[in-house]
Amino acid sequence: MQSEKEKLYNLAYIDKITKLGNYNYFLEKGNLILKEENQNIYVIALDIDKFKSFNKKYGHDIGSKILYQIGKILSSNIKTEKKSIVCRLANDMFGMIIVTDKNIQNVVDKICKDLKKIQINKSEYRVYISIGIYKIQGDKDIIQALDKALIAHNYAKGNYNIQYKIFNNQMEENMIREHNIEIQMEKALENEEFKVYYQPKISTKTNRMVGAEALVRWIKEDEIISPNIFIPVFEKNHFIIELDKYIFEKVCQDIQSWKQVKNEKIPMISVNISKENFYNEEFIKEYEKIAKKYNLKTEEIEIEITENVTMIENISIIKMIKRIKEAGFVISIDDFGTGYSSLNMLQSMPIDIIKIDKTFIDKIDIKNKNNNMVDYIIYIAKKLGLKTVAEGVEAEEQVKYLKEIGCDMLQGYYYSKPLKKKEFEHWGRTKLNKICSKGTDLINKKLNKHKNLKSADNT
Ligand code: C2E
Ligand code: CA
Ligand code: CA
Repeated sequence: MQSEKEKLYNLAYIDKITKLGNYNYFLEKGNLILKEENQNIYVIALDIDKFKSFNKKYGHDIGSKILYQIGKILSSNIKTEKKSIVCRLANDMFGMIIVTDKNIQNVVDKICKDLKKIQINKSEYRVYISIGIYKIQGDKDIIQALDKALIAHNYAKGNYNIQYKIFNNQMEENMIREHNIEIQMEKALENEEFKVYYQPKISTKTNRMVGAEALVRWIKEDEIISPNIFIPVFEKNHFIIELDKYIFEKVCQDIQSWKQVKNEKIPMISVNISKENFYNEEFIKEYEKIAKKYNLKTEEIEIEITENVTMIENISIIKMIKRIKEAGFVISIDDFGTGYSSLNMLQSMPIDIIKIDKTFIDKIDIKNKNNNMVDYIIYIAKKLGLKTVAEGVEAEEQVKYLKEIGCDMLQGYYYSKPLKKKEFEHWGRTKLNKICSKGTDLINKKLNKHKNLKSADNT
């Protein structure tokens, strides 16, 4: 029988599921360790990837047993390190303080190995974990030390191939930068600090502009912030969904304003859509509504979807792309060659255009004709009846080569950097005389092909 005192102690310090110490225990014991020990102390934050969906799939009972088993494995890994502790901090997050003379990476490698497969009632469960490690450097406060382990954990979490990360100061600086972006983003959207720039796409057949890609810039006072800095942050906190919609609307507005100018053919404008949108099947309805609001047909707008969407698990990418096509949009697969779309997938997706990633354009070896990766990509695209755009074209030799091998459109600094709306309009009028309709005709032909396929589907 437990005494009242024991009961109270357990309630305050012991986690019911794993029988390990809880968050309070971790803090109290952690501060004591920091006082008593002075070197080779490591704080570890560890959790299971997608534990929520794991719980859904196998039920909470199995979920709890897994947590218990993980607790046992972690404890057994530190049993020779007498001063060390392991606790369950919250949900599937475990905290450890390891005091050891051993190489910490070896210790963590062994933990990762032991946690790969968890055995419960003769069944084996595969779990993936992420770990952050912080080595105490004279710290006196365990909360601050745990924060640093959590920062490192966050880095491991965002990385498919890496199970653990060791804290460094750069990580903290990035966190602060990210935090600053996060506290300013909503106001920035309200204040219209996000602007659309346009980068022309040139037809290899006519040498005229046939399209342009809309690219976002954050203009903060006089500073222009590149999307490479804020987009990854917005993808993590899902603000990208709002920003993408906002940019899409601005583009529709611009297209409408261009349509009102007589005798101007409008190049096909493409808009980038982050993969975060793919988690909500309904997102495309909102895009249809916006296009309608500006009296545009969906066929007049191209949507660029990064090939990396193929890496999202648990949702049917093909179904989503079909949905976007059903709405009528022209679809291009962006950064082609950097993801994992199989030939099979390419064939089953109703896409119109492949945008060959810049890395393949950079690697073009002019002397080695017909043996570059781009050759094969263009060959396959042609076989599948898809148009091709080469991204990041910078040099004349690349232009020549890409024309020779039959790439349809070129985009890159060789022609123009992304331009402000006014500069883009000017560029379209002067640099290439007229915005030409030929390339859009090509796309329209392709579109008709899809329409025919669609009507054939319905019969
Ligand atoms: P991306 O979609 O691959 O866009 C092409 C990037 O290559 C653009 O960078 C463009 O400025 C750059 N680029 C074009 N030609 C050349 C060239 O000849 N040389 C070099 N070195 N670079 C060239 P940017 O504008 O900085 O955009 C970076 C990425 O941010 C984009 O890559 C896209 O993934 C993302 N992004 C930009 N705007 C949006 C947006 O509105 N929504 C979403 N979801 N993502 C966006
Ligand atoms: Ca793009
Ligand atoms: Ca790209």
